[in-house]
Amino acid sequence: ETPAGYRALDDVGLPAYLAAIPNVADKLGGAPAEWQVREVGDGNLNLVFIVTGPRGGVAVKQALPYVRLVGESWPLPLSRAFFEHEALVAQAAAAPAQTPAIHHHDAEMALTVMELLRPHVIMRKGLAAGIRYPKFAHDVAHFMAHTLFHTSDLALPAAEKKRRIAVFCGNTALCKITEDLIFTDPYRVAELNHWTSPQLDGIAAEFRADTAAKAAVSELKGRFLIHAEAMIHGDLHTGSIMVTATETKVIDPEFAFYGPMGFDIGAVIGNLLLAFFAQPGHATAADPREDYGRWILDQVTQVWTKFEGIFLGLWRDDATGDLYPADLFADPAGQAALRRVKADYMERLFSDSIGFAAAKMIRRILGLAHIEELETIADADLRADCEMRALRLARDMLVNRGAYRRIGDLTAAAATHG
Ligand code: ADP
Ligand code: MG
Ligand code: MG
Ligand code: MG
Repeated sequence: ETPAGYRALDDVGLPAYLAAIPNVADKLGGAPAEWQVREVGDGNLNLVFIVTGPRGGVAVKQALPYVRLVGESWPLPLSRAFFEHEALVAQAAAAPAQTPAIHHHDAEMALTVMELLRPHVIMRKGLAAGIRYPKFAHDVAHFMAHTLFHTSDLALPAAEKKRRIAVFCGNTALCKITEDLIFTDPYRVAELNHWTSPQLDGIAAEFRADTAAKAAVSELKGRFLIHAEAMIHGDLHTGSIMVTATETKVIDPEFAFYGPMGFDIGAVIGNLLLAFFAQPGHATAADPREDYGRWILDQVTQVWTKFEGIFLGLWRDDATGDLYPADLFADPAGQAALRRVKADYMERLFSDSIGFAAAKMIRRILGLAHIEELETIADADLRADCEMRALRLARDMLVNRGAYRRIGDLTAAAATHG
């Protein structure tokens, strides 16, 4: 249902719309006729405009009543802008340094005006270009640990957590995209699937016949459907992270809902691994990218290790939720038990993350939506070779995820497959 007050804006209508919002007009400065508007949306779903004036700039994101990548034949509810805004508010509370400031939200127009991130670049582009970001691993680990911990039962009283779950319960259309495109379609014939053909025709057919992979991915789909563990970003790939040498910002949480924490951690790890496997496709004689590949794998290690440290620190210092009440574990036996609980919890979360990372990797090669680091490899044979290596590792991660006990097991396997 498109609300009566909705109209998709363009570079002509946008200045007049923004002029009526005093704090936004003030940020831009000068008169609306002086404001420059540029549509920069490179994502799959929405419009994004960069607006600059004499004093400053803003970014404006507006949802369309359909999927931008596909067109009007694939309707998608405008309510995703509401959920994105709700998530941004919760993320700003938990991880303000990594969350863009919100200047205005208009639910009817499915539109949010936010901080213009510049000179930040999309992390995925930096990974294709071979650029190192020294703050990335720490900042993303911090963002995930804080947003996940503070929206979980370890931090929230049960009634408050249930109230928040209810807020996001209606985000079913976006969840359905994940349920289909990540957990189902790559393992069956689906109209929108595509891959580097004919090079990957054989392995695509192998996945469609792979009963063990189907059982493993369906178990993960079950976790996604069933486990309202924390508010997750829901689309935390390297295209949703904007970076500079000193700052890291997380954008685009329209897929947010209460789901399994490992889905976000796996998104980061899986996308780093895809960037690692894409490196030979970007190597030149002057820049063979071998050191850079090692840097990416080190980021995988750093992201998990720092996440675990920060999350456990929050659990030690900030456990204000209803789960594992302190007075139940106060005596020495209880404290020993709680140490085991925490170790088991992190082990389970690690295993979930490995599985979700694998599912994310597979869908970016065999499913609908692909990624820039691989798509920009012009030589199809070379691209297919990179993709094949990524698929082989991901299949093992999916089916044998119990064999990955610590993060070094994963980076060692990646180095072997790469
Ligand atoms: P979608 O939901 O369609 O994927 P995104 O929120 O990912 O939309 O935004 C699409 C693109 O717009 C990003 O890749 C980025 O280049 C640009 N963008 C989004 N938000 C901002 C911002 N706050 N500042 C600068 N650029 C932004
Ligand atoms: Mg996006
Ligand atoms: Mg492709
Ligand atoms: Mg999006």
